[in-house]
Amino acid sequence: MKEGIHPKYGKAIVRCACGETFETRSTVSQINVDICSKCHPFFTGRQKLVDAGGRVDKFKKRMGQK
Ligand SMILES: [Zn+2]
Repeated sequence: MKEGIHPKYGKAIVRCACGETFETRSTVSQINVDICSKCHPFFTGRQKLVDAGGRVDKFKKRMGQK
């Protein structure tokens, strides 16, 4: 087993696309994410509706062309 092969686990700043930042632990110092608990569709509702609409549309198209 070689020593020092494992990356250091330390504090990491997670930056969300919505501008929210929070701390976590990771091997990298900064993480960029598209979604967090503050802007997750489950919490906003509006994004969920938009997304669900597209999925339903796709699903209907698939079901239509058998
Ligand atoms: Zn966010």
